[in-house]
Amino acid sequence: MQAKPILLYLSGPMEPLIKSEGLYRYFAGFCAVCDLSFELQRGEVLGFLGPNGAGKSTTMRILCGALAASRGRVWLNGIDLQERPVEAKTDLGYLPENPPVYRDLTVDEYLDFCARLRRIPKARRTAARQQTKQRCGLEGAGRRLIGNLSKGYQQRVGIAQAIIHEPKLVILDEPTSGLDPNQIREIRSLIRELAQTQGVILSTHILPEVQAVCDRVQILHAGRLVFSERLEDLRRHHQHGLLLTTAQQLNVALLRDLPGVICAEPLTEHRFRLQLDRHADPGAIADQVVANGWGLQQLCPEQEGLEQIFTRLTTRESIQ
Ligand code: ADP
Repeated sequence: MQAKPILLYLSGPMEPLIKSEGLYRYFAGFCAVCDLSFELQRGEVLGFLGPNGAGKSTTMRILCGALAASRGRVWLNGIDLQERPVEAKTDLGYLPENPPVYRDLTVDEYLDFCARLRRIPKARRTAARQQTKQRCGLEGAGRRLIGNLSKGYQQRVGIAQAIIHEPKLVILDEPTSGLDPNQIREIRSLIRELAQTQGVILSTHILPEVQAVCDRVQILHAGRLVFSERLEDLRRHHQHGLLLTTAQQLNVALLRDLPGVICAEPLTEHRFRLQLDRHADPGAIADQVVANGWGLQQLCPEQEGLEQIFTRLTTRESIQ
């Protein structure tokens, strides 16, 4: 009896906001989502990155309960989406690829309608609407017809309907698609602001978007999860040898003879990619280049960036 509160305490805060296990979705025998398992932790902005047709929207629709999975399970905030769908979706906000706004309503009318759908008590609706408009930069737009708003403002209204009930989890499908650079910047800063209090998943095929707003990236290709890493780890883990620049033109054979170098490849006559033995010290290589009078200009780790990883993982040859 006495252990119960302790168990509740231990399991409560640790529960991921989303957990999916072995998700599949077939369309007439075609596998659009294949064996997808992942988690979203609180306070995280997770970017689903992938080329068109990779399965991002299908995955998001499954996570939101808008589309049934052919196989697999989803838990939202610890609640099984299949077994208790209404309860599981209480703490979820979803912006589909095309914002589900009514063009003939004003922003206030539409947000009131959304607040009623989300069962916000009548006494709290006006406050919820005002607060949401403020968060989304819609303060002056309450009486405007949605159909007359710019695409960027319609997108804000779409995000507003997703967060009016203050869900713990917000899922945004391509939130910046079709917007101009200023609107993109504003929506990105809104997403970062949401992340202070909510967990966010967004999909995109724009690499800088992931770098600008996400804490973690998952790359989808042909329905499969091919990469998942925190952006801060990306920099550390994807080092591919050293890049050396010398003032003098060098025959690459000279570099291959240096102790600790297992491979040297010329990029230009002054620039080389080196692979070192696991125990070799890059400092010793620098010393050798200086001692030989080759004119050391630069010796730095070569990093594989998100763009190279994306290209490597989402090109046709990588399909097994
Ligand atoms: P993404 O969002 O990454 O662009 P989608 O999830 O929209 O990709 O689509 C993944 C694949 O599933 C695509 O090949 C698409 O044509 C297919 N697909 C998506 N929805 C349907 C559907 N309702 N019926 C048939 N095929 C679909």
